[in-house]
Amino acid sequence: MENYRSKEIECMSREDMKKIQDERLVAQVKHVYENVPYYRDLMDKKGVKPEDIKSTEDLYKLPFLTKDDLREAYPYGLLAKPLADCVRIQSTSGTTGKRVVAFYTQNDLDLWEECCARAIVAAGGTNEDVCQVCYGYGLFTGGPGLNGGSHKVGCLTLPMSSGNTERQIQFMRDLGSTILCCTPSYAAYIGETLRDMGYTPDDIKLKAGIFGAEPWTEEMRREIEKLLGIKAYDIYGLTETSGPGVSFECSEQTGMHINEDHFIPEIINPETGEVLPEGEKGELVFTSITKEAFPLLRYRTRDICVLSRKKCSCGRTLIKMTKPMGRSDDMLIIRGVNVFPSQIETVLIEKGYTPNYQIEVDRVNNSDTLDINVEAPEGTDVSDVPAMEKSLASAIKTMLGISPKVHLLPPKSIVRSEGKAVRVIDKRKLHD
Ligand code: ADP
Ligand code: ZN
Repeated sequence: MENYRSKEIECMSREDMKKIQDERLVAQVKHVYENVPYYRDLMDKKGVKPEDIKSTEDLYKLPFLTKDDLREAYPYGLLAKPLADCVRIQSTSGTTGKRVVAFYTQNDLDLWEECCARAIVAAGGTNEDVCQVCYGYGLFTGGPGLNGGSHKVGCLTLPMSSGNTERQIQFMRDLGSTILCCTPSYAAYIGETLRDMGYTPDDIKLKAGIFGAEPWTEEMRREIEKLLGIKAYDIYGLTETSGPGVSFECSEQTGMHINEDHFIPEIINPETGEVLPEGEKGELVFTSITKEAFPLLRYRTRDICVLSRKKCSCGRTLIKMTKPMGRSDDMLIIRGVNVFPSQIETVLIEKGYTPNYQIEVDRVNNSDTLDINVEAPEGTDVSDVPAMEKSLASAIKTMLGISPKVHLLPPKSIVRSEGKAVRVIDKRKLHD
């Protein structure tokens, strides 16, 4: 049986949802034009007035907003409410450069937490659940977002933050946690630690996990589900759009439903900015239609994915997005070939390795080199290592089209992540 937080909204007809979006969009554009000089200038330069935006069909007329705009306008340049109305800031983890700061009114916090609550309910959460939140707390949006959502659902909330993994497991056992929220890489680490402490999934009560904030593959999902004995749900969001909860997975596990009453998605060609039809792969763009303090119109996320309105077995009518396969700026170009770390992860797990790996790219004599460090499984015989490296390198070559050098390292030698994992070390940048 599928659970909904707001059935009326989540299963609303497309027609009714569009009405809500049209109305909210018109009001939001007016709000931004009147209160954010930075964006007003962008609109003026493009020759668009708030009156030109009458419905979602007019969305394409609006200028894009990029991460560079956010950095340029840092810290207060995109604020749309007086500071007196703002109660919180959060900030990006700075994975790809200078931090971005987002602002929230109390109403913004409520709506954000409501979005996270939908994700928890979709994963089967109720007020009977014990929800252990081990996303980082503080400036990072993961902890505060899921913490707020968990409160709204009425779960007993464990605000653990990340780190101290053995203590996480102790609490999980003592308090009988049923839902786990953290990054997928940390979930895998918790699972591994559980096993190393001599426990099996039968020794804990977890039933579901809500994992996001970084790319992860289907193979990694199965791995975590096995290690922890749970069903693992994906959740997506970014600081600029409040945080996690922009979209969330249902029991079908084939993409994340976007909370369209708050965010209007578009997919564009990242090179030309042209809007692409549903079903095509491109860069995800969001317009937030309910955010007050930090409303972003046509914000380019740099995340690459596909949107789909295909009917979902869960009954929700909210549009779905595929897992982002990586950010456009995560994509490595190695010897002219586009490479996403997730492709390498897929091969590793398929071949029975753990999802602990690091990719090193460098340039030697004007030619790119690709080295992949992977942990050998426990009990590997040293004499088998060269053959295993060769076989893995050949499987990766089949996937990518270019040959890597694979290095098998002793088990546990690659540092574990408690937040977002660092998968890529690109040394080429040092030479530029
Ligand atoms: P930073 O850009 O510093 O990492 P955020 O913490 O705001 O800042 O991270 C948002 C980004 O994290 C998204 O743009 C996306 O690239 C990534 N992300 C978030 N959730 C997911 C997910 N479920 N799957 C893949 N990537 C995700
Ligand atoms: Zn669904």
